Parts: sequence; structure tokens; C-alpha cells
Amino acid sequence: MSTTAPSSTSTQHAPTATALRTVEGVHKSTSFHWVGDGFFVSTYFPSRHLPAERVSPFVLMDYGPGEDFAPITRGKRGVGWHPHRGFETVTLAWEGAVAHRDNAGNAGIIGPGDVQWMTAGAGIFHEEYHEEGFARRGGRMHMMQLWVNLPRAKKMAPPGYQPITKADIPSVPLAGGGQVRVIAGDYEGARGPARTFTPLTMLDAELPQGGRLSLQLPATHNAMAVVAKGRVRAGDRVASAGELVLFANDAPRLELVAEEDTHVILLSGEPLDEPVVAYGPFVMNTIEEIREAVVDVDRGRFGPIPD
Ligand code: MN
Repeated sequence: MSTTAPSSTSTQHAPTATALRTVEGVHKSTSFHWVGDGFFVSTYFPSRHLPAERVSPFVLMDYGPGEDFAPITRGKRGVGWHPHRGFETVTLAWEGAVAHRDNAGNAGIIGPGDVQWMTAGAGIFHEEYHEEGFARRGGRMHMMQLWVNLPRAKKMAPPGYQPITKADIPSVPLAGGGQVRVIAGDYEGARGPARTFTPLTMLDAELPQGGRLSLQLPATHNAMAVVAKGRVRAGDRVASAGELVLFANDAPRLELVAEEDTHVILLSGEPLDEPVVAYGPFVMNTIEEIREAVVDVDRGRFGPIPD
């Protein structure tokens, strides 16, 4: 409060910037499925409990908490050429390595700590496989893929590709141990390297027991935390590994306290106030635009599929 404020204001109860968000729900996903033959994931949303308007601008989250793969001597594991339009795919790896290639000419390997931010926009084909060396050695794949929606005006943006390596991601040490890696948005003066079309925050945090992650966000932004390891307290709720905390949009400040050594991913962003019509690999605003996407793929308008 300003020291020059009239004394009469000191008795008023203005909304404070320190009010804490409450928790709207804690969700556990129980069903897993294979994406191709390489990624054993659970789709946390879209779901009945996490509808589009509560998770926007995110539209999908597939999380693979850790699947062990035996070495293979030939062939590959993953998912072959498939199209996308109208959104961005964001792939994070903590263990294992994902090799990616698209028909816009981009290729790369997403290893532990790396993030790939691919803009499908107007249309792209890509393939996602276990990186060859990893497939030959075998080991654990711990990864997440998020789909980030694009606003109507940007759905047909040219395809883009941001290979964000571990070294590109600023890591903010926490008092008392632990660290917060800033992938997108801001945290304590550090700016995430990801270029986004709409305001968005993505943090990857390691908290020691008793560690606290506290973050100021616009109250209107949707916010979720995914517990990859450990256990956190958020308000009067507790979430364990494999659970997703959905915060209410009722205050600017969000806080998580680790009850044991914890790895948590924080996702937040300004919701897009637009209809979401998703079908297979396309996320558009209308069913007519979905039809156009199917026709455009058939007519080769997403470009040729490489050999
Ligand atoms: Mn894909």
C-alpha cells in the first residue's frame, strides 16, 4: 500500500494480490492407451471432468509417466506419418528420447529435459518415433505431449518448429532447494524461450520436501498442475503422482507445497473464448473447417509425405 494514501482507504478491504486460488478438482486418469507402438499414455483431457473451457488454451494432454522398453535390434517404435491442423503440439521428455520429423523439413531429437514446440497451423505431416539409439539400448520413456490451441485468426498460420533444448530453458533455483524450469511465460524474472501465440505459462518444477512453488497469474487464466512424482498440497487438497490439480479462476496467486520430493508441471494460459471442434488430428472452430481439413489432406494440400 502506498504510504501517501489517505488514511480512510486503510480500512477498506480491496481484493489483494496475495489471495490464493482454491482448487476446483483433483483428477486422476486411470486408462492408458498406446499411441502407435511407442508411447503408453493416459489422456487427461479432453475429458468429462476437464472440459475445453477449463483447460483452454490447452486442448489435449497425453502423459506417459514411465514405460520400460526392451532393446530392439531392428525396426522402430512410435507413430508414423499423420497430419495436424489448427493447433501446436508440445512434446516434453524427461527420460528416453523422441525422434521427430515433419514434411516442412524439420527434424530433431527430444531428449531428457528438452521440449519441442511444433506449430501445425495450416497443416503439417509428422512422424514421432523412439530415437534410434534409445530404441537399441532400451530403457524408460517418460514424456508428455500437449496440444495447445491456436486462436481462430492463427489456425492457418504457416507451420513452425521450435526445438528447445534443456540448455535453452532457464532454471530458477528455489530458496531451500529445488528449481523451476521456465519453458514458457515468466517466473521470478526468468523468461521461457517458447514463442506462443497467446499468453501462456509452462513450468517444470522439482521441489524438495517442504518446498513451495508460488506464482502470480492473471486470475482469469486457467491453471493446472500435474504431479509427475511425489505429493503436493494445494490449499486444502493433496495431489499425488499421476494426479492433476485444476485450480479455480478465483484469485491471482497459486501455491503448491511439496509434502515429499516432488516433480510437478504447471500449465496456465489465457482461455480462448471460441468454440473448439476437435476431430482426430484436427482442432478447429467449426465442423465445416474439420471437413475442409479432411478434404485438404485428401487433395495433398498438407504437402507431400516424405519417403
Ligand atoms: Mn502427432
